[in-house]
Amino acid sequence: MTSYDHGEFDGVPTDASSDLAGVPDAFQRLWTPHRLVYIQQGEQPDEHTCPFCRAPKLSDEQSLIVARGEHAFVLLNLFPYNSGHLLVCPYRHIATYDQANADEVAEIGELTQIAMRTVKQVSRCDGFNLGMNQGRIAGAGIAEHLHQHIVPRWALDANFFPIVAGTKAIPRLLGEVRQEIADAWPS
Ligand SMILES: [Zn+2]
Repeated sequence: MTSYDHGEFDGVPTDASSDLAGVPDAFQRLWTPHRLVYIQQGEQPDEHTCPFCRAPKLSDEQSLIVARGEHAFVLLNLFPYNSGHLLVCPYRHIATYDQANADEVAEIGELTQIAMRTVKQVSRCDGFNLGMNQGRIAGAGIAEHLHQHIVPRWALDANFFPIVAGTKAIPRLLGEVRQEIADAWPS
């Protein structure tokens, strides 16, 4: 389990979880402000390279989708702030909320409610952050495709907002979380 050691991953310095305040767990936190800068300064994808346009064409397991609606779908964020961090996206490649039509607005809202109930049921979280970053200046990583964040919060996670990434355990972990939420999702 050397990947959990204090050190670096892909040239990025990482902190062992024992260095952070809070309840120790198995996760290594990778602090990546430069990754955010990279994402924000990088070229924005068009419909052909957009990960949110590509995801629905893949299997649920490959794309980490937990539920598909008629106008919008729900998937796990590949770079979660917290375990169970979901994104609700319209299928259409639209950038901002005001461009969404009535059907999309209604279903994004409905899927957000179901996601909250489902995540609360499986994770016993204490609260949520919901939100949409509109435009790169507002912090949207992929500004060209609308996505609503649903971030479960626990009482003990306050005061830090780590991006969990960079260990081999993560893809398996995300797969397990996806399965758990998908199984609990009301049909
Ligand atoms: Zn797109």
